[in-house]
Amino acid sequence: TSANDDLKALVRTIPDFPKPGIQFRDVTTLLLDGRGFGLAVERLAATVGEAPDLVAGVEARGFILGAALARELGCGLLLIRKDGKLPGATIAEDYALEYGTDRLAMHVDACSAGAKVLLADDLIATGGTALAAARLIRRAGGHVVGARFLIDLPDLGGAEALRAEGIDVASLIEFE
Ligand code: 5GP
Repeated sequence: TSANDDLKALVRTIPDFPKPGIQFRDVTTLLLDGRGFGLAVERLAATVGEAPDLVAGVEARGFILGAALARELGCGLLLIRKDGKLPGATIAEDYALEYGTDRLAMHVDACSAGAKVLLADDLIATGGTALAAARLIRRAGGHVVGARFLIDLPDLGGAEALRAEGIDVASLIEFE
């Protein structure tokens, strides 16, 4: 048994979503559990040393965790969205999906130069999403001090790739 087995038990696995062969780790069941949601946010916050200036949440499930973490740490929330959703002037970064590419965007003026930004998302797999988010924050002048995830799929190497970029990574739950 390990420290967060109570939280791991609240994550539901849906086979063959969104396509055959994928085991989707569904966090909606953890979010439905008031105690589990609260514990997850508290335990993630406890892995953060010095409070950042901003938490950056990645659309869509990263907004949920990012917002809760920002409140817990007492800092602001920066939204990283799918391209085309933000109303102000944006910068955008493409990232590879298994088939094709997608594009994330942020308001170009969302963080001041040198702002310490902590990335947040529900899950890291290949790291493509988080690396694109980190590129955006850096282009906007921010300093990516770390990244926090509820779930890491270590076999896919995303956390490793972020660490290779000098980003401090922590997560609560791992699935093979
Ligand atoms: P990556 O870019 O690291 O390969 O994939 C991570 C992104 O895809 C995250 O934004 C995450 O929300 C989503 N994602 C990929 N697989 C899963 C999964 O099994 N469960 C959940 N909840 N999200 C996933």
